[in-house]
Formats: sequence, structure tokens, C-alpha cells
Amino acid sequence: MLEIDLHVHSLFSNCGLHTILELIEQAKCLGMKGIAVTDHGPSLGGRLNSPFFDRFRYPDDGFVFYKGIETNVIDAQGTIDIPFEYISNCDIVLLGLHHNIQKGISESSYTDMLVNAMERNPCVDMITHPNDPTYPIDYMKLCSAATNHGVAIELNNSRTLYRRSSDETTIGMINACIETGCRLAVASDTHAIQELGDDSAVSPLLARTQFPKDLLVTLNAETVNMFLSARKKNKSI
Ligand SMILES: [Zn+2]
Ligand SMILES: [Zn+2]
Repeated sequence: MLEIDLHVHSLFSNCGLHTILELIEQAKCLGMKGIAVTDHGPSLGGRLNSPFFDRFRYPDDGFVFYKGIETNVIDAQGTIDIPFEYISNCDIVLLGLHHNIQKGISESSYTDMLVNAMERNPCVDMITHPNDPTYPIDYMKLCSAATNHGVAIELNNSRTLYRRSSDETTIGMINACIETGCRLAVASDTHAIQELGDDSAVSPLLARTQFPKDLLVTLNAETVNMFLSARKKNKSI
């Protein structure tokens, strides 16, 4: 079980099933220490809204609540769909390739999209599910660029849990992180509540690769907080 889950969708994503308060209650029931709610950017129909980013304040009761967005790449130049006005309110910005991007192009093109997006958008903290077989990636190139920008690569529990990525591909991605010294963050990509905080599908893969603890962002709540605190300066606009 993750102490803090950095990739969680609420009803404000078309794919999410639960309210923000339901997600918080479930995380507390599980004994977790925090979550980040990271709904999709507008090109995937995410309904990001001002009351959440400007007005919602979670009480300081020891549970950590991070505001985030899972933003989408929208072109080859690395443009992303994060609304400019919400960047400074974000504690975490995830970035991924999703079904708004054409399938069947090439590994080098998909890799360049993510690398360009990181270079153009310093607010990005983590690349989500780069082990999606729909969008093949050159992991050494991606992880080298991520290391240079201080960006983490996500090890997505749902992709492995629902067999949407092969273990072989995922282990290739993990090994590229080890070789390049790239930070890795385990997250659930929760859409349904029973997925929250779950790292059970990918933990055996981390063990198999003997992944170094110092590269693991999600080792515990403290390491998550240190990573995001150091990244916060990139959200000032
Ligand atoms: Zn995603
Ligand atoms: Zn997601």
C-alpha cells in the first residue's frame, strides 16, 4: 500500500467514478497519509474548475492533499493542455500520452513528444504510464531527458493490474530508470475506489529489478513531500 498516491481521478475526469471527498475518506480508511487528485486536462474532457484550484482548502488534519492535473500532450512540438491560470495552484503536474494522440506513428515521434513537452513546460513533474504499448517509447532517451529536468517516471499499478502492459516492457522501463539515475514514482491511476493506494501489481517488478530506494519518489510520505516541495518553484508564473 502506498503512503501517498500521486495519481487519482475524481468525477471531474470523464473516467473517474468518485467525488474528491469520497476519495479522501477511502484513503483515510486505508490508513494512507495522503493523495493527489489529478484529473485530466480539457482535451480528454476533464472538467478542471476554478472552485477546486482557487477555493478548495483541505483542513490541516495530518492528511496530505495535493492538487494536481494529468495534462495531455497535444502536438509533436510538445504543447500541453494545462490551463495556464491553474499552474500556480498545482502541487503536482502529471503528463501523459492519451487517446487524443494518433496511434501507429513511431517510437521516436512519441518519445520526442514527451521530451519536447518536458523541455517546454517546466511545471511537469511526472510522466504517466510510458509503458503503454499503444505509444511505444525509447526509454533510455526519455529517462535521460527526465533525469536532466528532475522529472519522475511513473510506474503505473493499473497498467500492470489490468494487463495493459507486458512485464517485459515495464521492466525495460524500470531498468532504464536505474541506468540513467531517473526518479521513479509508483502510483495507482485510480478510477474506481478499490484501486486507491494499490501498488501490489508492480511491487514484484520493483523487487525483481532490485530498484534502488534513493531513486524511488514514493518510498514514503516524506520522500514524496521532499520531491514535490523541490519542484514547487517550477509552478510560479
Ligand atoms: Zn493517463
Ligand atoms: Zn490517469
